[in-house]
Amino acid sequence: MENERNPLHIFFLPLPAHGHMIPMMDIAKMFATRGAKITIITGPPYATLFSKQIERVNQLGLEFQIQTVKFPSAEVGMPEGWESTDAVTMSQNQHKFAKGLILLREPVLHILEEHRPDCLVADFFFAWATDVAARLKIPRLTFGGESIIAVCAREVIALYQPHKGVSSDSETFLVPHLPGEMKLTRNQLADHVRQVETDVLIRGEASEAELKSYGSIFNSFFELEKDYADYYRNVLGRKAWHIGPVSLCNSDTADKVVRGKEASISSHECLRWLDSKRPNSVIYVCFGSMTRFSSQQLVEIAKGLEASQQDFLWIVKEVKNEEQDWLPEGFEERMDGKGLIIRGWAPQVLILDHESVGGFVTHCGWNSTLEGVCAGVPLVTWLVAAEQFYNEKLVTQVLKIGLDVGVKQWVRLFGDSVKSDRVEEAVKRVRVGEEAEEMRRRAKALAEMARGAVEEGGSSWSDLGALLQELRLQRLASNKKI
Ligand code: UDP
Repeated sequence: MENERNPLHIFFLPLPAHGHMIPMMDIAKMFATRGAKITIITGPPYATLFSKQIERVNQLGLEFQIQTVKFPSAEVGMPEGWESTDAVTMSQNQHKFAKGLILLREPVLHILEEHRPDCLVADFFFAWATDVAARLKIPRLTFGGESIIAVCAREVIALYQPHKGVSSDSETFLVPHLPGEMKLTRNQLADHVRQVETDVLIRGEASEAELKSYGSIFNSFFELEKDYADYYRNVLGRKAWHIGPVSLCNSDTADKVVRGKEASISSHECLRWLDSKRPNSVIYVCFGSMTRFSSQQLVEIAKGLEASQQDFLWIVKEVKNEEQDWLPEGFEERMDGKGLIIRGWAPQVLILDHESVGGFVTHCGWNSTLEGVCAGVPLVTWLVAAEQFYNEKLVTQVLKIGLDVGVKQWVRLFGDSVKSDRVEEAVKRVRVGEEAEEMRRRAKALAEMARGAVEEGGSSWSDLGALLQELRLQRLASNKKI
């Protein structure tokens, strides 16, 4: 524990997006549990969304507060508060969002100058954060919310450009020099890697700022990605601390429920439904906070789930083309008792941790992947965008705890199309038979390791301790210089 009279004061600057904000809040809580004083800088909409979570942390007696700074919506031509809505994920709005992030520099600098913290943990996308921290003579730590394998693969692709040596977008190429074999096609690379996006520049600046930062925090644990963790530190020569899985800092039902948006189902109702099912019998289907499928794709999922004859809990976000009446006729009546559809937000960690859940159909967002690992369930990987194709390789080829549904194309937010027979086959394979048992056995072993990593003396617990110690020494050194 920190010296309580003079704890480290650490500011966190999360990206206003659920997939980044949720783990950053958990990381901040972990720092607070180890004695640091925490301030989160965010806009009023997220401050409201996360108020219950902060209340819970404060009830534990931890020093944890929010400092609000308004997102410059008007300046970028958007309505007030839009940064917490789905509008932000629309590709036509992304340059406005990026501009808003740049404009936050001055108000954030002002807050930091006023409070003089010991360290700034800022999301990868705040390219200016390294400079701002340097002005205050404090370390800037970077958090990108990605797996280590994804960051290593992206770095190597940027360095060696293996995708430029193939003649078509569907021809496979080998990502060279990585500890394990990774084959991809250009179709599976993000737009910005293929240089077809305007955000190349923003990413480029953010990557440079990451390189110059004090180091990176990963929501991962050494045992899960050890070859890649070593590669990142020893071959790429980067400083990193793996302190996850951070979702495990929420052990009570109440803590799991207040994570993220307000759930569209009460925890009581959700648990009652899950309690009525046999252990390992339910397939949980959820594609993160942003993916929006078309109604045709949702129909294929519905048909596939029905044909698989497995129990399922399926989370459906708003439909892409706004047809709300997309379910096959009579589906809900036929699935009564067998399947539950939650439209909106689900308490994901609460669901995954329930013993009746026996498989997870996921888009392989890194948080979801790791939450699946912690729950010890085999995964069906259904990729959409971002760095999910790299995460899939980790799940299916390195850890061997999942199988892919067969997506071939990176399609921002909306996903490549998958027919119902593929859904049916993948869901059955992950639930029944010897292959499923083998994956389950491996997944359970990893879940044990994940818990061990964050317990006192575990790899993540020790890495976080080492980081805090380094920050204390940094503070001593800079105090001496003054
Ligand atoms: N999540 C949730 N309920 C939902 C959808 C998502 O709690 O209905 C949480 C999920 O547990 C995870 C995060 O939102 O922590 C999504 O992050 P991920 O990296 O998996 O995907 P993204 O949303 O960034 O694509």
